[in-house]
Amino acid sequence: MANIYFDNAATTPIDPRVVNAMIPILRENFGNPSSIHTDGRISRSIIEKSRKSVASFFNASPSEFFFTSGGTEADNMILRCAVHDLGVKHIITSPLEHHAVLHTAEELAHKEGIRLSLVNVDGKGQVDLAHLTSLLAQHKEKTLVSLMHANNEIATKIPLKKVGEICKEHDALFHSDTVQTMGHYNFDFQDLNLHFATCSAHKFHGPKGIGFIYICNDVSLKPMITGGAQERNMRAGTENIYGIVGLTKALELAYEDVSGHQKEIQGIKSYMINRLRETIPGIHFNGDSESEDSLYTVLNVCFPATDIDEMFLYNLDIQGISASGGSACSSGSNIGSHVLSGIGASADRPSVRFSFGRFNSMEDVDIAISVLEKIYTKATV
Ligand code: PLP
Repeated sequence: MANIYFDNAATTPIDPRVVNAMIPILRENFGNPSSIHTDGRISRSIIEKSRKSVASFFNASPSEFFFTSGGTEADNMILRCAVHDLGVKHIITSPLEHHAVLHTAEELAHKEGIRLSLVNVDGKGQVDLAHLTSLLAQHKEKTLVSLMHANNEIATKIPLKKVGEICKEHDALFHSDTVQTMGHYNFDFQDLNLHFATCSAHKFHGPKGIGFIYICNDVSLKPMITGGAQERNMRAGTENIYGIVGLTKALELAYEDVSGHQKEIQGIKSYMINRLRETIPGIHFNGDSESEDSLYTVLNVCFPATDIDEMFLYNLDIQGISASGGSACSSGSNIGSHVLSGIGASADRPSVRFSFGRFNSMEDVDIAISVLEKIYTKATV
């Protein structure tokens, strides 16, 4: 049976080179980084070396990076602390954001009376920049704009630099959830008017449970998790030192040849688009995922209606193909996707997200297509 993993937007398999970088830390560097003795100081220096290395990939200062447990914590911290510490009274976001942003913004609106505006999006998931501008012009209170760089379900990207410029013109803070794009694209934080960005290592072949927040030096927040003075008083709790080393190694590997990686994965995605088109008539692609400007790791396919719609993913799974319907984080659940409904995608047809990573090949596509062809010829009504 095939064993093809096409759910890399949910999580990626860890790279063995990352595991090898983490093992000596797990074995030997047990010292608490807050301890003042030699064991502690060694652990501390490993963390600070990692922070320096992380910053070097983004043309930013190490003092702008804070390690967290991943993307969800980082997104939560930015929204909550922007309201509590920076006097933000208005959050503008989109209906297609990850729930780490959307649910947090909704809670801040319900419990703390923050104004919440949802910017219009079109059928491809593109943010209406004129509407964003008019929302910013209309409301003069301190505003945080939170818009994801690339959508985890439908691959649509925002023009990060342009959105940053619009925010700057209106004196708004700008956060971008970059969880799906860090390690997949180059970022120059000196060149982007971005106050906050977020990262999660397990999206680029690193370990789970570790990520970071980028907070530009012009703004300062207070911690969301309180306790000890770790992360320069910004995030309490004994540091996940082997996770930090794993994240740094995964980032190093990702940025060794990011354009080569992009070319290779885009090749796999384009091949899958072509093979799907020639094999299953009536197929189309949700959001912007077909375009070469979209996030190259994600392809969201809307299949023609079948008599096994509900069982489509299950059928793929029993044939050894891991993919997902709806959001990565609720894959396996039957809750419909707020992203697909937000762009008005058909609810009568099965949609499947295939997402690609470093360990996929063209052969994987051929195998998946032959499985789909089999399922499809049996199932079509
Ligand atoms: N933001 C986006 C766009 C995501 O895709 C995810 C995970 O699927 C997250 C945030 C949450 O990241 P984590 O799993 O590290 O909490």
